[in-house]
Amino acid sequence: QDVVDTGGEERPEPRPPVVTIMGHVDHGKTSLLDAIRQTKVAEGEAGGITQHIGAYTVSVHGKQVTFLDTPGHEAFTAMRARGAKVTDIVILVVAADDGVMPQTIEAIHHAKAAGVPLIVAINKIDKPGANPDRVRNALSEHGLISEAWGGDTIMVEVSAKQKTGLDQLLEMILLQSEVLELKADPHRQARGAVVEAKLERGRGPVATVLVQSGTLKAGDVFVVGTFSGRVRALINDRGQKIQQAGPSIPVEVIGLPGVPSAGDVFQVVSDERVAREIAEERARKQRAAELAGPAKVSLDDLFAKIQEGSVKELALVIKADVQGSSEALAGAVEKLPTESVKLRVIHNGVGGITESDVLLAAASRAIIIGFNIRPEPKAAALAEQQGVDIRLYTIIYDAIADIKAAMEGLLEPTLKERTLGRAEVRQVFTIPKAGTVAGSYVLEGTITRASAGVRVIRDNVVVYQGKLASLRRFKDDVREVQQGYECGLSIENFNDVKVGDVIEAYTVDKIAAKL
Ligand code: GDP
Repeated sequence: QDVVDTGGEERPEPRPPVVTIMGHVDHGKTSLLDAIRQTKVAEGEAGGITQHIGAYTVSVHGKQVTFLDTPGHEAFTAMRARGAKVTDIVILVVAADDGVMPQTIEAIHHAKAAGVPLIVAINKIDKPGANPDRVRNALSEHGLISEAWGGDTIMVEVSAKQKTGLDQLLEMILLQSEVLELKADPHRQARGAVVEAKLERGRGPVATVLVQSGTLKAGDVFVVGTFSGRVRALINDRGQKIQQAGPSIPVEVIGLPGVPSAGDVFQVVSDERVAREIAEERARKQRAAELAGPAKVSLDDLFAKIQEGSVKELALVIKADVQGSSEALAGAVEKLPTESVKLRVIHNGVGGITESDVLLAAASRAIIIGFNIRPEPKAAALAEQQGVDIRLYTIIYDAIADIKAAMEGLLEPTLKERTLGRAEVRQVFTIPKAGTVAGSYVLEGTITRASAGVRVIRDNVVVYQGKLASLRRFKDDVREVQQGYECGLSIENFNDVKVGDVIEAYTVDKIAAKL
């Protein structure tokens, strides 16, 4: 097949669908990927399942389907946060014996936020406790109504273990992909996305690239992230050396000078010098951006853009300590009367803010609202790095008022909380008259008597908010205790403090309105 770059003229042709598998942990994502690969790839093929390259392609009735072998909504959204849209169809795996779980709901929200259609695979149908109707019922509460019940979500019963229902699932994928009319132009220079990349002993940097348009050939000059180079070899998912790969085909690329990130764009260019210049320019920009710090998607910036009219939608991720609060807040926000701007809650859930929440917010340019909870330390670091705005509240009304004020463009001076210090409770003892005293170690900042208040945080959830009753070092009452020192503290009207709790002292600043 002759591959020529046609310049501007597009000649799109049908291409295979690219599928990602998501679902709650242990519901069978990996088993399903393996089962499909084993039954379909091994069929009549010498070598069969040899190489593991992060994606594979199977053939169904002469048509191809590509599976990304990096299951889970975190990987999916991490790639999307880097600007890569690689998945056409999401398979949501739900174990028939376990039912709809928190990560099932997360996966639904991540797929929806990306606008990718979803097919449900009800797995482990072989198990004695399997109850597929209970799964259908629970999914309907999250907006996924089974076709069997008159809705429009395809649901297939499978067993990854016994390898049943797989053909039906694959047929449904083909059906869905026909509806999507997936097309790409194979007659041009290739453009794709990095699915996975690593440094391999003896082979150097190796990347699995999913070709998205055009045809990638051995010898092509490329730019990927801040690297440029020439394709030294292309290896397919069967471990065979190939000369070219067309749209929707995953291929391992050898010849990179460094390891790019999953989600980076892989672009073929005509000229080696041009490739090098683009890569160098990107590296320069990246260094400058690192020096300048993250470009924050802050609520304030968004307000400004909303007023300009350049932003028409505000996406929110809402996390709270209990389901009732998260739903109440999401409900109240969605009911806010806004004329010019659409408010969209793309995910609401229970528990501390996780890395997956931050990635989702980054990919959808959303803001995270936390109610009575705290980000996990890793998530806080990621938010800082990705420039995601996290707003924490302990009063629902404050959260709603903040957003409402923003929508109306009434930026009253806002009261902003600032954490002064955090201490960890190492020992708890009861002293007659004084009540419960928490022997604590100041992890960071300062714990002060003068703080506006303190919060007791347990597993990233605020369990109590109040005031310090006493703060002591040895026998002395003190005004403040700094990082690295031990202290004994007690909290007004709260005697339920536990070892491992984090005590956070905060203050409230008045900040003038922007604009
Ligand atoms: P993942 O965490 O979603 O990737 O789940 P795994 O694929 O690792 O599967 C979790 C467990 O469920 C493993 O012990 C599998 O053997 C088991 N499992 C997966 N699919 C099935 C199935 O269809 N039937 C039964 N009985 N067990 C399954």
